[in-house]
Order: sequence, then C-alpha cells, then structure tokens
Amino acid sequence: MTKLTGQADSKLEPDSVSELQARYSTEQFYLATCDVGLGLFANRDISPGERILRIEGPLIDFAETKRRGPRECMAIQIGYDTYIDTQAPGVFVNHSCDPNSGIRANHDLVALREIRKGQEIRFDYSTTMEEQSFTMQCLCGAPECRKIVSDFSTLPRQVQDRYILQGIVMRFILNRPTAVPNPRALRDFPIAVPELPRPAWQPTAQNGYAVA
Ligand SMILES: [Zn+2]
Repeated sequence: MTKLTGQADSKLEPDSVSELQARYSTEQFYLATCDVGLGLFANRDISPGERILRIEGPLIDFAETKRRGPRECMAIQIGYDTYIDTQAPGVFVNHSCDPNSGIRANHDLVALREIRKGQEIRFDYSTTMEEQSFTMQCLCGAPECRKIVSDFSTLPRQVQDRYILQGIVMRFILNRPTAVPNPRALRDFPIAVPELPRPAWQPTAQNGYAVA
C-alpha cells in the first residue's frame, strides 16, 4: 500500500531534497525532513475540511506494486486490485495513528481538524488498506499508536467507526460484502466513485471479500 515510512526518502541526496522542497512546496504546505524522512508540513493554518492536495498518479495493480520492491509502499490502494502509483507531493504524506488528515473520494486529502502552521500533515494508512499483504512498523508516537499498520479490517471497531463517519475510508473497503459499514457514512458522504477494473484475483472467504 502506502509509503514505507522513511525508507525510500532516506535514500534522497540533500541536493534532491532541496530541489523537491522547491518544486513541491505551496502556499498551503511545504516539504521538510522529519523523523521518518521527508514529510508534508502546513505552511499556514489549515481549517478542518479544507482540501490539502489531490492524490494522483497512474493506476497500477497489486502485482505491479509487488514488482516495485521497497517502493511497493508508495502506492495507495483504491480498489481490490487497483492502486494509485502516488506521485509527489502526495507520496510524501506520512502515516499517523492519530491523523490530522484523511483521504476522501479516493483522491482528496482533507484536514480532519485545524492544522497549525508548522505541524506535519499525516493520514492513517490503514484507511486505504485491505489487501492482506503489506504491513509496516509504526513509530508515530501517538498515545494510541498501534505499532503495526495493517489492513482496515484489523483496526479496533471503534477506530473503524470513527474513520467511517469522518468519510475517510476508501469506498471499496466499505463495499466489501463482509464489511459492516456504519450506514451513516454512506448517507453523510455519498461519494460517486467510478467503476474500477475487475480484480485480477478472485475474492474469497479467506481474504475477507466473499459473500457468505
Ligand atoms: Zn502509530
């Protein structure tokens, strides 16, 4: 799924870091180094609900994410077998177990609360993961840090419900036949998501997608 925190960034040379900073910083955010590599920081106070950026990139499938090796984690899952090969600056948004932003409608990174100038902008990678494959160690430091970032279905139900009501869970996860989404989420966030390509692999009871 998403970025393996820090690993790919740490290979960047200082020159390319300043080049990236110059290229991708805006009036709303800037790139800077943080404890896990490069991260995205608020360049001014950002209001709750404000869109920060659009997660964009070519669409690839699960097999292709695996071919990327350590860069597997850069892709953001938006369907059973569909991933965005995230490009800058979206690719620099790090994970937090206590996120101040989230992704709506597959692409829009929005602030979940007021983000003060200078604070790092992070989202919870588990809101976009349901693949039974990728996990990553988390050192985000939040009091509720889960230590291991994994699929949405592994989150405590209370956390799942909060994210669902915030409208920041990828729609394909809510649409899993075995999922029990909070109906309010569908009412409050009626997101029109274009039809995605059929999965290359068949959903089964084992991977949690099959109808009983
Ligand atoms: Zn954490």
